[in-house]
Amino acid sequence: AAKNSGRGTYRFYSVDLKDEETERQELLDDMREALATGGMEMHYQPVVRTKDNMVVGFEALMRWEHPERGNVSPGVFIPAAEESDLINQLGEFALRRACEDALAWPETVRIAVNVSAKQFANKGFPAIVSQVLEDTGIAPDRVELELTETVFMGDVDVTDETFRILKGLGVRLALDDFGTGYSSLSYLRSAPFDKIKVDKSFVDTCTQKNENSAKIITAIIGLSKALGMDTTVEGVEAFDQFDLVTEKGAEYIQGWIYSKARPQADILEYIANGGFKIEPSGPETYRPERR
Ligand code: C2E
Ligand code: MG
Ligand code: MG
Ligand code: MG
Repeated sequence: AAKNSGRGTYRFYSVDLKDEETERQELLDDMREALATGGMEMHYQPVVRTKDNMVVGFEALMRWEHPERGNVSPGVFIPAAEESDLINQLGEFALRRACEDALAWPETVRIAVNVSAKQFANKGFPAIVSQVLEDTGIAPDRVELELTETVFMGDVDVTDETFRILKGLGVRLALDDFGTGYSSLSYLRSAPFDKIKVDKSFVDTCTQKNENSAKIITAIIGLSKALGMDTTVEGVEAFDQFDLVTEKGAEYIQGWIYSKARPQADILEYIANGGFKIEPSGPETYRPERR
């Protein structure tokens, strides 16, 4: 009986695993296809200076409209790509497209691009960054690479060397999703970050009573300032959150209160129609304004 049930269990799982593996392969094939045929797009979410509501930069976020499944979240397809080499091609596409698009924006406006830890761990990564800078001619200090703490899980020598080369190229480095990983302060001591991005999860709970999130946000902003780094608070959606984080000293905010990510066409229309100022008023308001 034990043997039977064991075999039955095995069969059950093997069917499940095969489905999962097939599913994963299909997703990867579809992503490859999309990348080759223009199906992958970059959208841009503004990063806003709170004191005057000026847009100081945009974060490039990848968007994929699957022909049958509709919109697939990068929270789904990026991790899948990270399990294969495809993340390197996706990452290069994101960086190149974002830099090209940013060339049509005012020169003071920065472009932030996410870099997966797996991409970062690739020894060829700094050369790709250097090549994209050269090909596009964008000023390196307009380009900000967003890394998460998982980059420190990689080979120490490769990581150190990559940081050294990137700094030499003159790009900026931001530590994304701060507070959600190990958040070891030694990373901040040794790595040359220009900015810390406070994770959305703290913002989600910061206005709740008896929650430490507001204090943690305050502490991260203080830490960041003491180290001479900028801080962006991510994921601000509501006015009570906005009021709280600005009161705690947040100089830069990125969130739906200002705008969701928009395609380049919208950004260009916005530029053509005036300036780079947005009032905090909720997710659907960042539309190109007519003057
Ligand atoms: P992330 O880098 O931390 O990006 C911020 C995420 O928060 C984005 O989700 C953004 O749309 C979302 N967000 C911003 N403000 C708000 C808000 O007020 N409310 C809510 N609910 N969400 C907000 P998105 O675009 O779904 O991307 C998810 C993650 O996927 C990113 O997190 C990043 O880790 C990854 N990702 C996206 N594009 C790329 C890419 O081109 N390359 C790599 N390696 N990863 C990417
Ligand atoms: Mg990011
Ligand atoms: Mg983040
Ligand atoms: Mg994230």
